[in-house]
Amino acid sequence: MNAFKEINSPLRTIMTPGPVEVDPRVLRAMSTPILGQFDPAFTQMMNETMEMLRQVFQTKNHWAFPIDGTSRAGIEAVLCSVLKPGDRVLIPIYGRFGYLLTEIAERNGAEIHIMECEWGEVFNQQEIINEMKKVKPKVLAVVHGETSTGCMQPLDEIGPACRELDVLCIVDAVATIGGTNVKVDEWELDAVIGGTQKCLSVPSGMAPITYNDRVEQVIAVRKKVEKGVATEQDRSEVQHPISSNYFDISQLQDYWGPRRLNHHTEATSMLYALREGVRIVLQEGLKERFERHRLHEKALVKGIKAMGLGIFNDVPWKLPMVTCINIPAGIDGESVRTMLLQQFGIEIASSFGPLHGKIWRIGTMGYSCRKENILFVLAALEAVLIRHGASIQMGEGLQAALNVYESANLAAV
Ligand SMILES: *Cc1c(COP(=O)(O)O)cnc(C)c1O
Repeated sequence: MNAFKEINSPLRTIMTPGPVEVDPRVLRAMSTPILGQFDPAFTQMMNETMEMLRQVFQTKNHWAFPIDGTSRAGIEAVLCSVLKPGDRVLIPIYGRFGYLLTEIAERNGAEIHIMECEWGEVFNQQEIINEMKKVKPKVLAVVHGETSTGCMQPLDEIGPACRELDVLCIVDAVATIGGTNVKVDEWELDAVIGGTQKCLSVPSGMAPITYNDRVEQVIAVRKKVEKGVATEQDRSEVQHPISSNYFDISQLQDYWGPRRLNHHTEATSMLYALREGVRIVLQEGLKERFERHRLHEKALVKGIKAMGLGIFNDVPWKLPMVTCINIPAGIDGESVRTMLLQQFGIEIASSFGPLHGKIWRIGTMGYSCRKENILFVLAALEAVLIRHGASIQMGEGLQAALNVYESANLAAV
């Protein structure tokens, strides 16, 4: 009668910009026994996770905790807790995820002002600052690393300008956290959202966020505690309560803080995963981890170029953990991806919008960002391209990548 077999998922080499391969130590942590969400053994793990998240975000902010849900849950929680209908938001868009910020802010009734540039470009920071002076928004919402185009928007001047102009700077650092510098305090970013399934190498399902007092003050005014758990200290009349219950950061704060207010049931196994993921990040060291991402990116890029292929994002603002390859003329990009998966068990990504069918995207994130993966994807891509009749420099890709590793080894001696 029972026709369903036990799960037996195939082993893959995942080289997409997320989700990526999960560190085996994280998978192990996820299989440890469940605890109640108010068990002191568990709340201690919550506190430890907050402490480690602060270090990963390079911040002294008190608030740093995960939202349960995928990365966009973190974005949605921050935006819906901060924005009330009619609030003005400026969003510079340079790829798909800029539109996601727009979409979420719009659904919260904000007045949206956008700036757009071509996919593959980023903004001059001064352009954004000038636009802020004109628009006078309450919030600037911007993506740090655009996985759709493989570009990274510099923020070091934008943050301080926001502070000066009294604008809240909210940043989607989903793709960059744990893979390259996201200097929350130094760049004066007010709220930052990270992701788990990218450079942290934790499964999708949580979104770590951090925010400062400026954001906390805005949220505090809108705080409304659920009637069933409210006490005398909670106001019952609130003018513009946060529209979402699930994503209400003011209530979540009281679950992550000493009050331990009952809100949702915490996703215990995911918290184990995140705790282990950030522990591994700090054990490796932020600087070492960012250098590792740069090294494997370099080997991949040199290999791809030596093969004779073009890099779409070969620009100074390239996102270190995403390499976009121009699909050669006459080659069916989807057929190449299918063959990589079927014959080699390797997954690479296509792209969205104006770039769909034009580029492949290879992610080098977290645990997937390893030498053997880089060499494997270069070898397999070469074989598959030959199979598809593309004219490439045979044998050159792997040699170029090996050269990068060899000189890195020499430099390390
Ligand atoms: C992956 C990604 C997201 C969305 O994450 P989900 O976990 O799919 O909700 C948002 N922003 C950026 C920049 C991303 O790379």
